[in-house]
Amino acid sequence: MASRTPPIISTPSPLAGLAGVGPAVITKLQRLGIEKVADLFEHAPRRYEDWTVIRLIKSLQIGEAGVVIEARITKISTGRSPRRRMHLTSIELEDSTGRLLATWFNQPFLANVFRVGETRFFRGTVGFDRHQGLKQFTNPMHEPRAAILAIYPETAGLSSKQFRYLLLKNWPLAQHLADPLPPVIVNDHHLLARLEAFKLLHTPRTVSDINQARRRFAFEELFWFALRNEQLKVALRHDQASYLAVGEQNLIDFAKLLPFTLTAGQRRAAWQIIQDLGKDQPMNRLLNGDVGTGKTVVATFASYVAAQAGYQTIWLAPTEILAEQHYKTLKKLLTPFHIPVYLYTSSHRLDNSEFRIKNSVLIGTHAILNKHDLLGYLGLVIIDEQHRFGVVQRTLLREKRSVGGHVRVPHFLSMTATPIPRTLALALYGDLDLSVLDEYPSGRKTIKTRLVAPADRQKAYQFMRAQVKAGRQVFIVCPLIDETESETVGTLFANGQSKSVTSVAKELATTVFSDLRLGVLHGRLKPKEKQQVMEAFTKHQLDILVATAVIEVGIDVANATVMLIEGAERFGLAQLHQLRGRVGRGAHQSFCFLFTDTWSEIVRLRLQTIENNFDGFALAEADLALRGPGEFLGTTQSGFPAFKMASLMDYPLIKETREAAGRALSQGLLSLDDLATHQPPAAQLE
Ligand code: ADP
Ligand code: MG
Repeated sequence: MASRTPPIISTPSPLAGLAGVGPAVITKLQRLGIEKVADLFEHAPRRYEDWTVIRLIKSLQIGEAGVVIEARITKISTGRSPRRRMHLTSIELEDSTGRLLATWFNQPFLANVFRVGETRFFRGTVGFDRHQGLKQFTNPMHEPRAAILAIYPETAGLSSKQFRYLLLKNWPLAQHLADPLPPVIVNDHHLLARLEAFKLLHTPRTVSDINQARRRFAFEELFWFALRNEQLKVALRHDQASYLAVGEQNLIDFAKLLPFTLTAGQRRAAWQIIQDLGKDQPMNRLLNGDVGTGKTVVATFASYVAAQAGYQTIWLAPTEILAEQHYKTLKKLLTPFHIPVYLYTSSHRLDNSEFRIKNSVLIGTHAILNKHDLLGYLGLVIIDEQHRFGVVQRTLLREKRSVGGHVRVPHFLSMTATPIPRTLALALYGDLDLSVLDEYPSGRKTIKTRLVAPADRQKAYQFMRAQVKAGRQVFIVCPLIDETESETVGTLFANGQSKSVTSVAKELATTVFSDLRLGVLHGRLKPKEKQQVMEAFTKHQLDILVATAVIEVGIDVANATVMLIEGAERFGLAQLHQLRGRVGRGAHQSFCFLFTDTWSEIVRLRLQTIENNFDGFALAEADLALRGPGEFLGTTQSGFPAFKMASLMDYPLIKETREAAGRALSQGLLSLDDLATHQPPAAQLE
């Protein structure tokens, strides 16, 4: 997410050289992640508007949206609207079949843009003006030429029209952008030259132009992703890990002390991991399982084995809250075996000596990586619920370490936040080792999920109150922290403003739930505050927690039975499923209520998928299928690698790029510079 305070610019932005771009525009561009000239050209359209399908005025039906006419201007008038006293520009239009009235509010300059007698293209929704008995467009878009128009992810004060203008004005600069792909790859995979691809991406003439351009850039994205994975694999093949082997009795002891029996899936996964750990070939395994299938205990088992073998484990969690939760879980499970467990986060520091304890388990956020040179006996790295597995691995592999006098790399175990469909996992990661948890611990009840109509909101509140009276707890998740937050993430389904944590909490605390104990949790709180709120909720000092999706990953409060999600259309299906997985963790029947600001057919269909479907793997597939290329609904938190243009459903292209990357590496088609440029910087880690 873009930072909200503009960065202090000490050196002039590379964007300053662009035509038509001053300091104000630079700030806006930066808000969209555009930092350098290349980023402007790589700012991919979110969708296109087809202005080439021209309709005749006579054929227009009242209520039709997004229709384009080609019409001659016959009259221009300006005035004020009678009731609302707004400035009004009206023009009369005609084509060979009829007349139409176009009206704009508060855009007085338009009177000077248009000339009587000229022909232009107008796009709008068909209405009807009773006074004149004419079909009408209100605030239509207008263009001098009929074209396919690119619509970009926008920000306040920077419209798609301005993007099109900026691109046109600065077009000559595109020629200086180097093509990072090796020419033989471009040639053999029938890719457009980069310059041509930019042209077709931003100013396509046909749908086929768009597809070709997208294929080129999707290929690039996937290629660099695949290349990094291939490099990692090569590195791991050449490196040695420590043997982390323990006797059978040790394993039995651990299983015996667990408060439950492992599911068959957990036992299988644990066994696969234990076998990997017993080899000197570094493990690179993905533990793939739906939310609630019990990945934590499997990874704890692995840490136990490492510790019993005399080695350290570091356990990386995506958030401090989660790190703390894991810390508690592991401490409980491992203390009986005298295995030291430590927590290291920005609010919970450790002495250097504590990093050096031979058989310890260190749990924390990525901050741990900054201390990794202190770790003398690192044997295992567990990466929980995040999609940047590769980043962590590369960081740790970059520097060779001596473990017990030998150069050794650790074993790696990654866990998915979202179950990745097996076919996709294999397409993305090749022959990565995969352990799948495909069943829930027994006794788990299905979470009753309902899409709630706006009229039933009060009923839902009453229901929640009854749950609280019965001693249960409730989550309310909102898409935004507060109303000032800009929504830079383009979503296909959402429009308008949606609910925020701040406003919802305030409203509920002063009305329906004024007598209940409400807490607020979001990413902008200080780590200490977050921790306090989470602790209060865990200890049942709060009844209701109003939060953003920060509570998505891994929070485990068994007493919580209701998950209410506001603006549900703003989340990906996989993410909604994740959120829903925050309840139903204890013995009580649990519920998930979905509210939406956009009560449309498509939203309803999409949300009904989740009402009736509880298989995370299936939902992940449905999510990917619904999400066209370039749609990144909730990807950043859903656990999938985030691509701008590549579709995760395009398995053939994913495979093709993996082969290309393998070839580029083995045939030395890329220079070390190329490789370095496309390494994500270590700075991304925190
Ligand atoms: P996730 O896979 O989403 O990370 P967790 O590891 O957090 O799931 O486990 C979810 C809950 O299920 C936890 O409360 C955990 O203690 C419990 N659990 C895990 N395995 C079992 C089991 N075999 N039997 C009963 N409960 C289990
Ligand atoms: Mg988990």
